Amino acid sequence: MKINELLKSGHITVSCEIFPPKKGIGLTHAREVVQEIAALNPAFVSVTYGVGGTNCDNSVELAAEVEKTGVPALSHLTCVSANKEEVRAVARRFAENGVENILALRGDIPQDGTFPGEGQYRHACELIADLKAMGDFCIGGACYPEGHVESASKAEDLQHLKEKADAGCDFFTSQMFFDNDLFYNFLYRALSVGIRVPILAGIMPVTNAKQIKRSVELSGTYLPQRFVSLVDRFGDNPAAMKQAGIAYATEQIIDLISNGVEHIHIYTMNKPEIAAQIFSNLSDIIADYAD
Ligand code: FAD
Repeated sequence: MKINELLKSGHITVSCEIFPPKKGIGLTHAREVVQEIAALNPAFVSVTYGVGGTNCDNSVELAAEVEKTGVPALSHLTCVSANKEEVRAVARRFAENGVENILALRGDIPQDGTFPGEGQYRHACELIADLKAMGDFCIGGACYPEGHVESASKAEDLQHLKEKADAGCDFFTSQMFFDNDLFYNFLYRALSVGIRVPILAGIMPVTNAKQIKRSVELSGTYLPQRFVSLVDRFGDNPAAMKQAGIAYATEQIIDLISNGVEHIHIYTMNKPEIAAQIFSNLSDIIADYAD
C-alpha cells in the first residue's frame, strides 16, 4: 500500500523505523524485530539504508520481510555512494520485492572527496524527480526542523525542502527533535513557503544516555533543559533511564497529537519492547482518533 494513501485517511498514524544488520551479518535477529514490530500494527515500517549502501542486500531483504507481514514497507535509499544507474537498479529491486514506498535521500557526504562523482545525483531532489519518473513509487524525503547541518540558514534549507516537494515528494519525515515547539515552528515555516505535503514527526525514545550523546554530536539536535535533567538524573541507571525515556517520548507524542499533528514516526533502534510500551501508552489515544 502506498503511504500517501494512508496519510490521507484522516486517522492518526504511528509508524516505526528499523535498521538492517551490517553486511555479512545474518538476518535472523532482524526478522524477529520485524515480526514483533509488525505485531504492534504500525501504519508502516521504514527500513534504513546503511551508510554508503554497503548493506544494501540486507535492506532489500528486510523490506521484503516487512511487506510479507502485510504492513507496508518504506525503503530508505541514498544516492551518495553510487551512480544513477546503480541507484535505479536498487529501486527496481525494491519494486520486485513488493515495495511501493521509497524514502529518497542523498546520504551523508563521504570524507574522501569522491562526491559528487561522474553520473551521480547531487541532491535528494534529483533522486526524487528520477524515482517519480521511473513509475509507480510513493516517495518520501527527509526534513530537518532545526535545519540540516550543512545549511547556512534554516531559510536556505527550507528552500531546498520546497525543491524536494516540487520534485514530487509525497511526504516528509523529520529528523528527531526533543522540543516540540521547534517542530511547530518548522511546520509553520514549511507552510509559509508553500509546502503542503504531510510532515511526519520523528520521535526518538532515548533509553540509553550514551546513544543520545552520539546522536546529538552528529546532528546538532537541541536538548531542552528538562530532557538534559532527565539524562543527568537517570543516565547511570539503565532501567530508570529506559522508563524515563519512554515517558518523555510518550509525552512528546501526546502533546503533538493534542496540537493537531497527525503522523508520528518512532525511531525504534530495533528495540520492539520500547516501541510496544509506547504503543501501549497511546492505545486509547490512537483508538479515539481512529474512530
Ligand atoms: P538533501 O535533501 O540533498 O540535503 C542535503 C543538504 O544539501 C541540505 O543542507 C540541503 O539544504 C542542501 N541542498 C539540498 N538541495 C540543494 C540544492 N539544490 N542546492 C544546494 N543545496 C541543496 N542516512 C543514511 O545513510 N541512511 C538512511 O537510511 C537515512 N535515513 C534518514 C531518515 C530521515 C528521516 C532523516 C531525517 C535522515 C536520514 N539519513 C539517512 C541521513 C541523511 O542521509 C543525511 O542527513 C544527509 O546528510 C542529507 O540527506 P538529504 O536526503 O536530506 O539530502
